[in-house]
Amino acid sequence: FNNELQRSEKLEIISELAASVAHEVRNPLQVTRGFLQLLGGKSHGAEKKYLNMAISELDRASNIITDFLTFAKPEFEQISVLNMNEEFHHIESIMLPLCHLSNGKMDLNVRGELWVKGNSSKFKQAFINIIKNSIEAMGEDGHIEIMAYGEGNKVHIHIRDNGEGMEPEVLNRLGEPYFSNKTKGTGLGLMVTFRIIEAMQGEIVFSSKKGAGTESITTLPLAERPDASRSL
Ligand code: ADP
Ligand code: MG
Repeated sequence: FNNELQRSEKLEIISELAASVAHEVRNPLQVTRGFLQLLGGKSHGAEKKYLNMAISELDRASNIITDFLTFAKPEFEQISVLNMNEEFHHIESIMLPLCHLSNGKMDLNVRGELWVKGNSSKFKQAFINIIKNSIEAMGEDGHIEIMAYGEGNKVHIHIRDNGEGMEPEVLNRLGEPYFSNKTKGTGLGLMVTFRIIEAMQGEIVFSSKKGAGTESITTLPLAERPDASRSL
């Protein structure tokens, strides 16, 4: 029991450290990338090749930070009661520009007032990683639908896309660390999502058809509406 307690304290310290590191490391990565690009524009042959390799390695590092720590703040993890409408509107506003870059559409439909207990940064990270995959799978006329509704003491969150879809072999491996079919993929996005949903006592089921699209259904325990008077 004692050991367990120490372990969770250690994990909390590690995640706080990771958040600070992500915060501090992002900027120098971007600055370095800018200079390398500048040099790349003036160079040729092998030199240009090495500069491009350096840039794509920097991108790999940035992508890893994105999959893990997009919203990480250097502070201890806060658990609160999250308003699904607010969370998903924030998520939508972050993902829309990326979606529009691929000429896609995104629809959001959160039915009624839904509350879920968890950490807001982690929650957003979990769904950003799913939606980012949908955007990356998009073809012409890409369309992503996000829908959330309550049923009994659960909330169901559907995310559906009409992207390239997956073969059953791929579907079975989702969430496996470093499993990626993309040249610039980290293979960490869904592993992070699965872990976050699991820690929230939820579950997530993917279905997909090659050439037709993909849908994930996440089920989480509904929380009670927070008492507004208590927080005053
Ligand atoms: P990454 O995106 O870095 O490859 P992920 O863990 O996010 O890693 O996803 C793993 C793999 O699952 C992807 O490389 C892709 O092949 C597949 N995948 C996940 N979501 C979708 C989706 N919505 N449509 C098609 N393929 C998907
Ligand atoms: Mg991904």
